[in-house]
Amino acid sequence: MDMFMKKCCGNCRQFERQPGKATDLCGAWGHPTKADREACDFWMMMVKQGKTVKAREDN
Ligand code: SF4
Repeated sequence: MDMFMKKCCGNCRQFERQPGKATDLCGAWGHPTKADREACDFWMMMVKQGKTVKAREDN
């Protein structure tokens, strides 16, 4: 893994591509976003296979 991965929406595990649309989707907050948008505090890098990340439940 690139340890200098850019901290932006496009590298977040919650980022969802929306083919054919002008914006993509943040799966965590449900709002439109773009790949190069500055990441929020919920940004996270990919986890190793077999490990899980507990979903945030307070949103
Ligand atoms: S807004 Fe935050 S959680 Fe949503 S895609 Fe961007 S970095 Fe990820």
